[in-house]
Amino acid sequence: MLRRKAFKFRLKTDSEIEASFAQMAGCNRLVWNKTLALQKERLGNKEYTLHYVETAKHLKAWKDDPDTDFLKSCHSQTMQQTLKDLDRALKDAFSKKSPKRFPNFKKKGHKDSFRYPQGVKIENRRIFLPKIGWVGFWKSRNIPGIIKNTTVSRQGKHWFVAIQTEYSVTKPKHPSKSIIGIDLGVKQFATLSNGEVIKPESNLKKHSKNLAAAQKSLAKKVKRSSNFNKQKEKVNKIYTKVRNARLDHLHKVSTKISKNHAVVVLENLKVKNMSRSAKGTKEKPGKCVKAKSGLNRSILDQGWGIFKQLLEYKLQWLGGELILIDPKYTSQRCTKCNHVSSNNRASQSSFCCMACGHTDHADANAADNILAAGHAVLACGEFGLPNLVKQELLVASNSVPACA
Ligand SMILES: [Zn+2]
Repeated sequence: MLRRKAFKFRLKTDSEIEASFAQMAGCNRLVWNKTLALQKERLGNKEYTLHYVETAKHLKAWKDDPDTDFLKSCHSQTMQQTLKDLDRALKDAFSKKSPKRFPNFKKKGHKDSFRYPQGVKIENRRIFLPKIGWVGFWKSRNIPGIIKNTTVSRQGKHWFVAIQTEYSVTKPKHPSKSIIGIDLGVKQFATLSNGEVIKPESNLKKHSKNLAAAQKSLAKKVKRSSNFNKQKEKVNKIYTKVRNARLDHLHKVSTKISKNHAVVVLENLKVKNMSRSAKGTKEKPGKCVKAKSGLNRSILDQGWGIFKQLLEYKLQWLGGELILIDPKYTSQRCTKCNHVSSNNRASQSSFCCMACGHTDHADANAADNILAAGHAVLACGEFGLPNLVKQELLVASNSVPACA
């Protein structure tokens, strides 16, 4: 089985290298924004979006245009990669199964990056980046496998390189035989069907005071003045802190769960839909805007999407699997008698069945329902796990559900 992994290191830059990086990132940002504008215009005219091959023709035209002929000085493959990335992002946004967020225009100084599909070499503690040359980096670990692509990006003041490699490993057998359902929430980050509760890492709340103050001060400064830039740097620093702490939390939780359980069942939540702007449109203003924007922020803050990704790949590495189930009625169904009603939810936190009187914490009830739905998928669905492992799991959990 082939495994892909990314290795990230800080680059050793000087002002000359940083200027080249900024220029490359700038050209790629322009290509992204111009192409996205083109695609949005087509969508506005009810036309299909252009395929990568067609957007590449536009790129060629921009290189010949006297207004944008500076693009000729940029590495072609990184710009082609940008077009491919945008192509992917648009496809993901229109995916029926699990749509992702529609791509945004890129802003200068915000997530500056560019990506090489090939041509990168590594020699000891330095890396060869086409059009730039050899650049040193802080090599904290070995990099196994063949380089598949390389991304250079800026975080705060520093530049980093992320090297994705591919290497083959034998498919492992997960040491555990346990299966677990997880209900993701806002108040509690996760409630497991074995009763375990994982608290949220409310970084944004912890840092939000500092952030609000820093942003307020930024708003008062003259745009692009040196004080403005200094303050902007401060705001970015707080953001980076929040992001790092959250990612750290998600890594810790996903590592622990993937080690303890061979199969994890999650709801296939459309985070994009749940965090859609509560404001609505001019013609159709939203209801409860204030309460919903609070919820939106909490949802985004929890990083459910990232959590799902982390859990999925960690489970795969260990020989386990992630099952995604339909979230329909998981919060309204009684685990004891299967009665479904919105009245079963006495409040946000408590569940009380109107038919049989069964009471439980709402999240715990949901986690049990998610687990049951996962069992149904395991027993009936086409599934990646070997049959033997499937049987062991079903026997171990002492429940063989009927196929729906
Ligand atoms: Zn009941």
